[in-house]
Amino acid sequence: PPDVEELGRSTWTLLHTMTAQYPERPSLTQQLETKSFIGLFSKMYPCWHCADDFRSWMKGGNEPRVSNRDEFGKWMCEAHNAVNVKLGKKEFDCNKWEERWRTGWKD
Ligand code: FAD
Repeated sequence: PPDVEELGRSTWTLLHTMTAQYPERPSLTQQLETKSFIGLFSKMYPCWHCADDFRSWMKGGNEPRVSNRDEFGKWMCEAHNAVNVKLGKKEFDCNKWEERWRTGWKD
């Protein structure tokens, strides 16, 4: 079986990096394809109990928000925080998602 922690770190890097490169003004097609990606991802993520919980979280009023980069980035941050809470980790300040994943920390 996969190492769920290593898989998780790598996957969050991919997912947050995708939001960081998402357009500020996505076309309708880009928005639909992104929702489709997230839906398929949530079925194929190879930690099955993780995938099940992620799908339940989305169904419980957290459908992907893909209208622009900031919305998608914040939504992904909230998704990651839901897992942080479940695992007893610290929540991340979602106002800082872009600094962490796109522009680099201001010092
Ligand atoms: P990670 O949580 O992997 O975070 C990596 C880096 O992202 C952090 O160092 C921090 O800089 C940054 N970061 C942290 N929080 C946020 C945030 N909210 N927004 C933006 N950036 C942030 N593991 C389980 O044991 N059980 C599960 O059910 C489970 N479900 C998962 C579901 C999904 C969809 C994914 C992708 C992963 C899941 N994982 C699960 C893995 C888990 O989330 C962690 O990746 C793993 O425990 C390693 O944690 P970490 O402390 O190294 O940092």
